[in-house]
Amino acid sequence: MYLEKFKLSGKTAFITGGGQGIGLACAEALAEAGAKVIIGDRDSKVADSAKASLKAKGFDIETAIMDVTDTKRVAEVAADLVARHGKVDILVNNAGIARSETPAETVTDEHWLNVIDVNLNGTFWCCREFGKHMLKARSGAIVNVGSMSGFIVNKPQEQCFYNASKAGVHHLTKSLAAEWGARGVRVNAVAPTYIDTPLNAFVKSTPKMYDAWIGGTPMARMGQVEEIASVVLFLASEAASLMTGSIVLVDGGYTCW
Ligand code: NDP
Repeated sequence: MYLEKFKLSGKTAFITGGGQGIGLACAEALAEAGAKVIIGDRDSKVADSAKASLKAKGFDIETAIMDVTDTKRVAEVAADLVARHGKVDILVNNAGIARSETPAETVTDEHWLNVIDVNLNGTFWCCREFGKHMLKARSGAIVNVGSMSGFIVNKPQEQCFYNASKAGVHHLTKSLAAEWGARGVRVNAVAPTYIDTPLNAFVKSTPKMYDAWIGGTPMARMGQVEEIASVVLFLASEAASLMTGSIVLVDGGYTCW
């Protein structure tokens, strides 16, 4: 009875930025649970390679080339998927970017706007466009990928733009959960610590940052993409049927100290 709740047979799931890293692991997790998975990514080569790697593991997924900052394209993809699959049950807003360490007083307009545009605006555009269809169906689960940095400021980090964008994602999650909770759509977020992906290669190559972070983590190790994907699977599934507006920290204990 309990394991059944994690199964996603008959469900359709769309994952933004699913071509690599955490998004690709989420695609595999949801496909393994039985969902029809569509990966959205802005680079067709990245999306094709993700599709091929999952095909080699026995999963037949689709891809959609889209940029989450392009509201017209986001709406088009949502409408197309609903037209072809009848519904989209699960949306994972994973697409996100980081930029190298930059002291706040030197952050340019372009730098600030770029990060906010992808991480916060892009998440909202996708929630809005896919959410419209979910509300009509009175059913849906949205999982936003926030960050531990949306709760706390890592020492000695200079990432005000990233931290602010992810804090925005967390509060957006709660706001939408409150608005849509009675209408069948759950909205939750996962908030990871540093995970071993291309996004934060700069952390690994900066001893000052890497040592401070490992030293500040009770579990004293880097996270792996599968450790985020399994939490996303839980939040997307019926196993989390009473959860909405939750921001689930997956941080190896970093925020305990
Ligand atoms: P990656 O850089 O490995 O993967 C992100 C994917 O998103 C890439 O394929 C990227 O494409 C795509 N993407 C970026 N911008 C857009 C866009 N505008 N439209 C569509 N796709 C886009 O990152 P991670 O897997 O590490 O991160 C995934 C999410 O997890 C992000 O939201 C990140 O902020 C969050 N996160 C990551 C942590 C980590 O330590 N890795 C920690 C906490 C949160 P392209 O290659 O073209 O840029």
